Amino acid sequence: MAKKLIQQDPTKVILKDTIDAQWVSVLDYLRSDFDESSYKSWIKPLALVNIEDGCAVMAAPTRFMRNWIMENFSERIKSAWSKVNGHVNDIEIMVLSSHKGLDHKVLPASPSGKILKKTTDIASTEQVKIIRDDQFGALLDPRFTFDSFVVGKSNELAYAAARRVAENKDVNFNPLFLHGGVGLGKTHLMHSIAWANREYFPERKVVYLSAEQFMYQFVSSIRYKDTMSFKKKFRNVDLLMIDDLQFIANKNSTQEEFFHTFNALIDHHRQVVLSADRSPSNLDGVEERIRSRLGWGLVADIHPTDYELRLGILQQKANGVPEVEIQSEVLEFLARRISSNVRELEGAFNRMVAHSTLIGRPITLDMTQEVLQDLLRANDRRVTADEIQRRVADYFNIKLSDLLSARRARQVARPRQVAMYLCKHLTSKSLPSIGRKFGGRDHTTVMHAVKRIDELRQTDSVLDEDILHLERMFST
Ligand code: ADP
Ligand code: MG
Repeated sequence: MAKKLIQQDPTKVILKDTIDAQWVSVLDYLRSDFDESSYKSWIKPLALVNIEDGCAVMAAPTRFMRNWIMENFSERIKSAWSKVNGHVNDIEIMVLSSHKGLDHKVLPASPSGKILKKTTDIASTEQVKIIRDDQFGALLDPRFTFDSFVVGKSNELAYAAARRVAENKDVNFNPLFLHGGVGLGKTHLMHSIAWANREYFPERKVVYLSAEQFMYQFVSSIRYKDTMSFKKKFRNVDLLMIDDLQFIANKNSTQEEFFHTFNALIDHHRQVVLSADRSPSNLDGVEERIRSRLGWGLVADIHPTDYELRLGILQQKANGVPEVEIQSEVLEFLARRISSNVRELEGAFNRMVAHSTLIGRPITLDMTQEVLQDLLRANDRRVTADEIQRRVADYFNIKLSDLLSARRARQVARPRQVAMYLCKHLTSKSLPSIGRKFGGRDHTTVMHAVKRIDELRQTDSVLDEDILHLERMFST
C-alpha cells in the first residue's frame, strides 16, 4: 500500500516520511490563517493520520471537536492542504478517543487484538501511536445488553436475528445486516450480541468496531507498514461486527480492504454482523459488487418506533430510578410527543430526572412541558424529505438514486410519486421545494403526483395499504 501511495503521484514523489513534513507546512498555513486562540483550540489538537485516495485523514480527540471543525473549518483546512499537496482534494477527521477518558464502566471489548491509544497530547503526528498490545476491538457499553433492549414490532426481526447470532456457533445467515435510522438501537443490539456471545462461548474471538475505526486501523497499518498483521488479525476472528458501515462510502481503499476481510471471513464460515443507516442496495458510494454481496445473508430493517415501544422503553427507564417520583401521564405524554428516535427520548427522560432531582419535586406533566419546550417543538416537525425518500426507496425495494432519477419506468415512477405525496403531507415543504428535492423537477410535476396518488388511493387498495403503512412508519 505504501508503494501505491508513491506511485499515485507522478509529478512529485511522496515518500511516506514526507507526509509529516507536509503536515508541518499545512499547520504553518493554518497558523497564519487563524487567530491565535482559535488555532490553539481547534487546530493544534489535530493529528495527521494518513493520506488515502486524495483524502487527508486527521484525528481529533473528541467527537464534539471533530464535528465542530468539520462544520466550521473544513474548507480552510482543505485549502491549506491543497496548497501543500495538489493531490489532496478532501479531508476527513476521525475521532481518536482516549482509553483513559472513557467512563470507568466501559470495558474492553475483546480479549484479543489491539487497542488504539492516544497519548495525553496529540498535537503532533509523532505522538499518535498504536499500542501493540492484543486489543483491537472497540469498547463495549455495559448498558447495551439484550436484557435492557425493549422489543416491539419495529425491531423484533432485528432482535430475533441478533439473538440467534449471539447464541449459536453455527452460522445461519451471513452476514447479518442491520439497518435503520439514527438512534433506533443498532449499536445497542451489536453490543448485546458481543456481550452475550462472550458469555456463551468465552473462547471465541468477538470483535466489534465502527467502520470509522476499521478505516483508522487500516490506514495506520499502512502508515506503520504493517498491513500483514492487520489482515491477519481481522481474518482471525470468529465474530466480526462493524458498525455504521455507511462511513466507508467513497473511501476506496478502505472499501476494498473491508471487502477482502469480509470475503475471507465468510469463506471460513465466520460470522459477520454489519450495521448501516440504510439498506445495502442504498449504500451510495459503495461499489455495486460489494453492495450486492452485503445483501446475501439476512437484512433486518429496524423501523421507527411506535407508541407502545416508546412507552415500554420509558417504563423500563423509570423502573431504573425508583427514587424519582414520576406522574403516570408523563411517560405517556413523552412517548406520544417524542417520536423521532430513542436517543432523544432517553435524553428527554434524563433531563426530567435531573431537573426533578435538582429541585426535589416529583415530575409532573406541567413541569415536563415547560422543561422540554424546545425539544417538543422540534419533534413537531421531524419528518424530512430525505428520510421520506430513503424509506420509500427501501419500502419499494428500489435504489434511492433511481427514485431521484429521471427514469420513467413504472416501478420507479410510482414510488417516486408516493414519496412526493408523502413529502407534501408530512412536511411543511412547498411544491417547488419538493420538486427541487427530487432532482430539480417542476412544481407542477409534484402537484400532478399528489393528485394522482390521491385518486389512486380511492381505487387501488394495495397502494392505499402501502401508503397507510408508510404514513404509520413516520407518524407513530
Ligand atoms: P443507533 O446505533 O441505531 O443509532 P443506538 O443503539 O445508539 O442507536 O441507540 C440509541 C439509544 O437508544 C441508546 O441509548 C440505546 O440504548 C437506546 N435504545 C434504542 N433502542 C432501544 C430499545 N429497543 N430498548 C432500549 N433502549 C433502546
Ligand atoms: Mg449507532
